[in-house]
Amino acid sequence: MNTSEEGAPTLPGEDSEDAVTIKPVRAVDPQADAATVFWDGCARREFWLQHCTTCDAWQFYPRSLCSHCWAPTSALEWRRPGGGAVVESFSVVHRGSGAFAAHAPYVVALVRFDEGPVMMSHIVGLDIDLGCGVGAVGDVTGIGAVAIGDRVELEFAELAGRTVPVFRAVGTGVG
Ligand SMILES: [Zn+2]
Repeated sequence: MNTSEEGAPTLPGEDSEDAVTIKPVRAVDPQADAATVFWDGCARREFWLQHCTTCDAWQFYPRSLCSHCWAPTSALEWRRPGGGAVVESFSVVHRGSGAFAAHAPYVVALVRFDEGPVMMSHIVGLDIDLGCGVGAVGDVTGIGAVAIGDRVELEFAELAGRTVPVFRAVGTGVG
């Protein structure tokens, strides 16, 4: 492997056949704490997932070994997924707590990236009616505009002083 980005080390997997959905691998310190790498990326509005070079699986959340084959940190590389995902489950939160209270009602969902991993996040930008007299508050005004199987796209939002990954509905997936 050659070097990239001003001499920074290149992580394995750069020549993957999955190039359609994989953006260039960013060189990161392989010894860096996985959570730090992840949140530092989010702060730059870059979403990084770990990919195992031993078993070719992606994983979320970030951790120090592969959750599929137990390969060590040295087998894990950081890749940027395409950002597309599907809603697997969701719930409308009517009374948030702490930093989330002002955003209620909002949708918390389990979304599956096209690459495989599932993460919990918010679905934002919905324009739906609760049917209980609640007006437009926060990102969501009710249930009905999101469904299991809907396609969503990754984006970032500022919440509680941190840049966090969220998803925006882009279309219906499963008929
Ligand atoms: Zn693995």
